[in-house]
Parts: sequence; structure tokens; C-alpha cells
Amino acid sequence: MLRDQLKGELVLPSDPGYRLARQLQNTEYDTVAPSGVAYCESPEDVVACVRHARETGIPAHIRGAGHSFNGWSTGTGLVIDLSRMNHAVADGPTVRIGAGIQSLDALDALKSQGRQIVTGTFPTVSQGGFLTGGGLGWQTRKFGVGSDRIVSARVVLADGRTVRASADEHPDLYWALRGGGGGTFGIVTEFALRPVDAPRLTGFETLWPYDDAADVLAAWQSWAVDAAEDLGTSLVVLPGIFGPDGKPIVKIWGVHHGEPEELARALDELTERTGTKPVHREAGAPGAYADVMHEVLCGSKTVQQCHRTGTHPDAIGHRHPYTRQAYRLTGRAVTRAEADSLLRAWNPDLDDERYLLCIALGGAANRVGRTETAYVHRDAQFLTGYQIATRDEESVARGPVELDEWADRCGAALAPLATGSYINFPSSRVPADWERDHYGENTPRLREIKRAYDPDGFFRHGQSIDGAAPADR
Ligand SMILES: Cc1cc2nc3c(=O)[nH]c(=O)nc-3n(C[C@H](O)[C@H](O)[C@H](O)COP(=O)(O)OP(=O)(O)OC[C@H]3O[C@@H](n4cnc5c(N)ncnc54)[C@H](O)[C@@H]3O)c2cc1C
Repeated sequence: MLRDQLKGELVLPSDPGYRLARQLQNTEYDTVAPSGVAYCESPEDVVACVRHARETGIPAHIRGAGHSFNGWSTGTGLVIDLSRMNHAVADGPTVRIGAGIQSLDALDALKSQGRQIVTGTFPTVSQGGFLTGGGLGWQTRKFGVGSDRIVSARVVLADGRTVRASADEHPDLYWALRGGGGGTFGIVTEFALRPVDAPRLTGFETLWPYDDAADVLAAWQSWAVDAAEDLGTSLVVLPGIFGPDGKPIVKIWGVHHGEPEELARALDELTERTGTKPVHREAGAPGAYADVMHEVLCGSKTVQQCHRTGTHPDAIGHRHPYTRQAYRLTGRAVTRAEADSLLRAWNPDLDDERYLLCIALGGAANRVGRTETAYVHRDAQFLTGYQIATRDEESVARGPVELDEWADRCGAALAPLATGSYINFPSSRVPADWERDHYGENTPRLREIKRAYDPDGFFRHGQSIDGAAPADR
């Protein structure tokens, strides 16, 4: 029995905790019924799960914190959950983290140890999914993509062996784990990371009227491309339900690694470039990296409150509703006319909950060669995309055709600007040549590595690398 072999917990459909155990971040996948959810507490637990799945012939689904937009961390087989493997320990020149650790917990645990790591812009994403896909956020411009800082990884392979992947050991696997996508090459149980040197940070937020949205979007993009690498920033167009007087609004926010006066000057420059004034502008007091990141990610919530509701007695973090999305990477600032076209696709006249979101990239991330790691997008300046959501169960049950149509229109508006796609922000509509779109010229090498480490495709999901496909396609 698998249960007897685990230090952790196995939750089966007949167990009281099953309803919660099968949840991902997105409510869309609440209807998926895995045959069991194994909360692993050690690498040996992970090995036992892999062997069990192999011997019984059931699919294995690797899960960190369940943020996969397209539901790749669940299915009808055994969910191998890493969320309890969540240590974070300073270890000489590196930081060792359990692959299931969430951003907010890593920031918190490392604070007293005088070290920090790169995270994304959402508190509960796990480092396992974040790093294996690349790892983008407000530190990208200053410190590179998260996976550029992986020194080594402990990995349980499809045949149940455990290996260490680094520049010297299993170098091909090490290369693939840095951006080749989660759930594909093995189950990472622990990473050793190069920490970031980021003692102080300042958070900031500005709000702009929707009437100026095209000017603001174009100006923000050119500002971000030209800005010092100390700047980490996102822009989101929010629908009327979140704006003043029911009108949509544009929010620009992020963190700054430099002196507060430099941030103030940079924000003045943003105002100058837009040719209009924000309705709100606020910069926090400079503070410790962990504190400022926590505040920007979680607001006034405590660490425990900031977790997803149900995963801790105090947790009140929200889940995401049924969502459709279209995201691409773009390689330069948009013109005013292009900004207009992106906003027309977003469509200010709709009432639905929907967003146009951009994260500024470039900087240190683009000083690494395209083939040095599996993350190929070294010319990207922005992650740009759209999301639409519905909480109406009837509409979901009917099949939300309007959501798909909206996302398709948005995807079409983005297409002329796109340089590729980021595997951690996959579009709902999967393009025919998605591997090239996500991995470019690194695709053949990823297929070879998949064949070498998982020849029968034991680890697979909707967009995992297919080792059976010809390597040179
Ligand atoms: C609200 C939201 C905000 C986000 N913000 C950002 C952001 O700012 N920056 C960014 O880069 N991304 C962001 N993402 C995307 C996120 O990085 C990816 O969805 C990531 O894969 C999630 O990892 P997870 O473990 O939380 O999710 P899961 O659904 O558990 O896993 C995602 C994928 O990774 C695989 N995986 C998970 N853990 C491991 C492991 N230990 N070993 C091997 N494979 C593993 C899974 O099999 C699955 O294929 C965001 C996603 C959401 C939903």
C-alpha cells in the first residue's frame, strides 16, 4: 500500500480532506478527480509515488502550489504534491529550498537568515513550477530570470532514481530544468540557488484614468525599456468593477531596488512621457526586501493569512475563477497606435472581469545567450497578455463561448507583436507549433533530453515536451 510507504499523507476520494486536496488555484479544475493526492514530505516519498504510479500504470501529476493556468498539475491519476517540501536554508554561498515552497514563505523564512531569492509577482506560486518554467517578475531586469540562479537541483526521475543536476552532474538535465517547463523531465525536490543581493526595496503604485490608457501604455513601455535595471514594474488595465465610478482604470506598480530619490525621479519621468497626470501616486518607505515584497504581494495580511483559503486555518487568500487567457512575449515598446489596438481588443465597453497585464522584462535576463539555458526568450522586453474570468456557474456549464471568442480576439491583436510565448503563462488556445513558440531553437535539444531521461513519456501533461517527436522538427 502506498499509504504505508509515505512519511507524508495520502488522501483518497473517500477521505474527508479530498475536496480540498484536489483543488488547484483555479476553480475550473475542481471537477477533476484524481485517484489520490500524496502530500510528500521527503524525496523518498516522491520516489515511492513514482514507483507506485509506474507499477500500477496510473498517470502521475506533479504539483507544487497548483497555479498552472491550464491545469497541468492534476488529472485522473496520482497527484504527487510537493507543498510540504518547503524548507529554505542559507547554505554557504547558496540557498537550499524545498521545491514546493511558495514565494511568500521563502521570503519570510530567509529574512532572518540574511539571504533572499527571486520570486514572481504572486505570493503563493511554488518555486518548483516557477523556476522550471523560467521565473519572471520584478527582479528579472536586475537579477535575471529566476532559473538563471539555479546552481543545482535534486531530481526524482521517471525510473525512480534520484540524481543531482548541476553544471558538472547531468548537465543536459540541468540545462533543461532552467526554463524547459515543469512536469516534464522529472520531479525536482530541492534547488540550490544563488541568492540575490537586495538588501533594500521600495514599493510604488500609480493609477491613471482609462481615457488616457493608450498614452499611458505606450509611455510606460518605452519608460520601462529605458529605465535603470533597479526598476521592476507591471501595468494592468482593470475593468470598471474595480475602477472609480464604475470606469476602467490603469494601474502601474512594482518595486525599486535603488534610492528613493531615483524612484521619485523615474516616476516624474513616467508622468512626463505620458503627457498626463496620474490620479494617484504613492511610494512606500524603503524597507527590507522581504518586508517590502510581502507588503506588495500580500498587503496587510500576515504570512498565514496570505495563503490560499483552506490551506491553513488562518488563510484567506483568494482563488481564481474560471479563466481564459492569451499571453505572449513582446520584444519592444508598443507605439501609440499599437497600444490603441491592444486596448480595442480588451474592449472598455464590456462588463466582465478582465485584464490586460504587462510585466517589464529585459535587463539582466537578456545578457544570457538564447541557448545557454532552456529559457530562450532573451530578446523579450515584456510579458503582455489578457485574461477574462467568470464566476457564473451556469455560463461555465454551458461552455463559455464568449470568453473563448474574447481571448481569441485578444490573441490576434497580440500576434503581430509577439516574439514567443512563456510556458508559465500559456494561452488557453494552444497554437499548432507551440513547442517552437515556447522554446525556439532549443526545442530539438529539449526533445533529446526528454528521450534520454523519460523515454516512455511517464511525465506528461497538455504541453510537456514530446520526446517521441523527431528531434530536428
Ligand atoms: C495568479 C498567478 C500569478 C502568477 N504570477 C507569475 C509571475 O509573476 N511570474 C512567473 O514567472 N509566473 C507567474 N505565474 C505562473 C507560474 O509561475 C506558473 O503557473 C507555475 O508553473 C506555477 O507553479 P505551481 O507549482 O504553483 O503550480 P502547479 O500547477 O503545481 O505546477 C505548474 C507546473 O509545474 C510542474 N511542477 C510543479 N512543481 C514541480 C517540481 N517540483 N518539479 C517538476 N515540475 C513541477 C507541474 O507539473 C505543472 O506542470 C503566475 C500564475 C498565477 C496563476
